[in-house]
Amino acid sequence: MTDLTFHQFICRSDNYGLLLHDHKSGATAAIDAPDAAEIERQLDARGWNLTDIFTTHHHGDHVEGNLALHERYGCSITGPRSEASKIPGITRQVTGGDSFNWQGREVRVLDCPGHTLGHVAYHIPVEAAVFAGDTLFSLGCGRVFEGSMEQMYSSVSQLGALPPATKLYCGHEYTQSNARFALAIEPHNPTLVRRAAEVDSLRAEGRMTCPSTIAAEREANPFLRTGSVAIRKRLGMEDATDVQVFAELRERKNSFR
Ligand code: ZN
Ligand code: FE
Repeated sequence: MTDLTFHQFICRSDNYGLLLHDHKSGATAAIDAPDAAEIERQLDARGWNLTDIFTTHHHGDHVEGNLALHERYGCSITGPRSEASKIPGITRQVTGGDSFNWQGREVRVLDCPGHTLGHVAYHIPVEAAVFAGDTLFSLGCGRVFEGSMEQMYSSVSQLGALPPATKLYCGHEYTQSNARFALAIEPHNPTLVRRAAEVDSLRAEGRMTCPSTIAAEREANPFLRTGSVAIRKRLGMEDATDVQVFAELRERKNSFR
C-alpha cells in the first residue's frame, strides 16, 4: 500500500493528469492521457517510465496523448471494450466486472455508462482508490452525452456505494463551479458549506481540490443525495423517484450559471 505514489497535476485547462508509480517494480500507470507532452514532462522530472495507460472513456481530452505516449514508451493501453474503436492504440479491452492484476494489486473495472456508453471506472481496493473519469466529480457529476439519465444515475450511485474511505480521483478540476450549483440546491448543508469554503481557499492558492473521498461526496454532492428531504423540498419533488430527482438536478446544472 505504501509502495505506490500518486502524482496528480492539472493539464490542458482543467483536466487532471494522474500517474501511479510503483516503487518496487518501477512501473508507472497514467489514468487517461489528456496531454502527452505534459505527461512526458512529469515523468521525465521524476525519472519514471510509463508502462500503462488506463483509459476511462473515448473523449479526446482523455485519449489524445495515447499514440504519442505509446510511441515513446511502448506502454500498454487498457480501455473499455465497447469503445475500443475510438481509443487510439488500445492493447487490452476490459468491461465491467473484469478485474486484472497491476503490479500485485487487483484492479476492478466498473461499467459507468451515461457520460459515454462505454465509460468505465477503475477501482483498486487495496489502495482504497477509484478513478472515476467523467462520471463522478467532487460535488458534481459528468454531463449525460450518450446514455440515459437512468444509466447515469446508476453509474454515479455505484461509485457512491464504494467503501466510504475510498479516495475519489476524477477527470476534471470542476469542484469550484460544482460547489456553486450544489450550494444553490442545498444551501443549509453544513458539510457542503464547509467544503465549498475549503475549495475556494484551495483554488485561490492554485491548489487542487481532489482527491475527495466517497464519504465526503455522500455528505455534500447533490447527485449522491437524491433521497435528501431538503433537496426534494427545494425542487418540489417530495414524491419523485431518485432517478427523477437526479435527472432534474442534472438538467438544472446544464443551464446553471
Ligand atoms: Zn468526457
Ligand atoms: Fe473530460
